[in-house]
Amino acid sequence: MANSLQAVRGMNDLLPGETALWQSLEATLRTVLAGYGYQEIRLPLVEKTELFARSIGEVTDIVEKEMYTFADRNGDSLTLRPEGTAGCVRACIEHGLLHNQTQRLWYVGPMFRYEKPQKGRYRQFHQVGAEAYGMVGPDIDAELICLSARLWRQLGIRDVTLQINSLGSSAARAAYRERLVAYLTTRHAELDEDSRRRLHTNPLRVLDSKNPAMTAVIAEAPSLLDHLDPDSQDHFAGLRALLDAAGVAYTMNPRLVRGLDYYCKTVFEWVTDTLGAQGTICAGGRYDGLIAQLGGEAVPGVGFALGLERLAAMLAATGYPATEPPPHVYLILAGEVAQRMGLALAERLRDEVAGLRLRMNCGGGSFKAQFRRADSSGARFALVVGDDELAAKTVSIKPLRAAQTAQLTLPEDQAIAYLQAAMQDGQP
Ligand code: ATP
Ligand code: MG
Repeated sequence: MANSLQAVRGMNDLLPGETALWQSLEATLRTVLAGYGYQEIRLPLVEKTELFARSIGEVTDIVEKEMYTFADRNGDSLTLRPEGTAGCVRACIEHGLLHNQTQRLWYVGPMFRYEKPQKGRYRQFHQVGAEAYGMVGPDIDAELICLSARLWRQLGIRDVTLQINSLGSSAARAAYRERLVAYLTTRHAELDEDSRRRLHTNPLRVLDSKNPAMTAVIAEAPSLLDHLDPDSQDHFAGLRALLDAAGVAYTMNPRLVRGLDYYCKTVFEWVTDTLGAQGTICAGGRYDGLIAQLGGEAVPGVGFALGLERLAAMLAATGYPATEPPPHVYLILAGEVAQRMGLALAERLRDEVAGLRLRMNCGGGSFKAQFRRADSSGARFALVVGDDELAAKTVSIKPLRAAQTAQLTLPEDQAIAYLQAAMQDGQP
């Protein structure tokens, strides 16, 4: 189609055939989050650019090259949020939610990053994030990990593994950074272009390189875990003990660094090898310095975000229930009078029969054509209202899925009772 309008590259429509899976996924997420006492927070999609530069870090991929930044009509620099933590912290500081209290919060919604679109990587994508504030020990880190593990169980996802690491305090990380730069300098000839650039801006990110050519260099790099400060060591040991006690399996990955600057101590990722290159479905960690850095009190924070597109892709592959249920009733309106009276009857049925999914024939059509539509709707019953029925104040009910079941003609009240009973019998 020439000149036809298309969506922006990397920004996807979710079509009616896909939304049932998303709704059911979101419902499970809400239930699990509620089970741990997390409350929803709803945040703007647009924030001042400065918020992300100051939180995520100036020399991260996100801030350097992935943000959708624009000047609004006032000339203020604004950015479509690339992630949710910064806005969540901003809102909590702004509304005084962190003063002398703890918070367990979650949010869901679209995030925007100018990345190279590919399977599992889009320019508009959706995250569910959970954040906890005011709790300094590893117990809350472990709780967040247990929460995510429960999610996978509830969703029937088995092919995921948990990787954990500790980034230590910022002082310990600075010391490690020097050792790492010294090591990487000795291997300079083997570094790819990205890593050479990062060597002096953000050398820890070299460890996060997805380039297979870098694997050997990264494998031989000094380990962050050998450079932890005592407090971070205790925290990490505490976390591991809690996960062991809760029966959550994990692997330690000393190369796990995450792409956002605000993390310290605990970081973790849930990874799968069923999605190809984009294998991380959930990632998070502790960010104790961030709130003070953004002008709030010195309150610790920890959280994770999971990518709904990647999760939905995994679920689609496992045959997760993903279809909209068909209507219970298709209402056939045969004749002009019936077409005028049909809407009132449909409304009455919806009032009286709890949970009823009723699809009313709209746009007329012969009795035969309407019956065909009733059949292909997958409805359990066709309800027929014609001139005869109207005159007698009756309704005809024809079960569509049971073989050999005759049509019944009942007074309206009895038809309602019949449908009410049918709704109780456990059939869809
Ligand atoms: P990656 O290493 O895959 O780029 P990231 O480290 O940038 O991920 P986070 O910012 O921590 O990811 O986001 C958390 C989760 O959000 C990721 O694990 C992933 O599931 C999802 N995610 C991140 N970026 C995208 C994207 N562009 N498209 C789809 N999902 C994404
Ligand atoms: Mg990324």
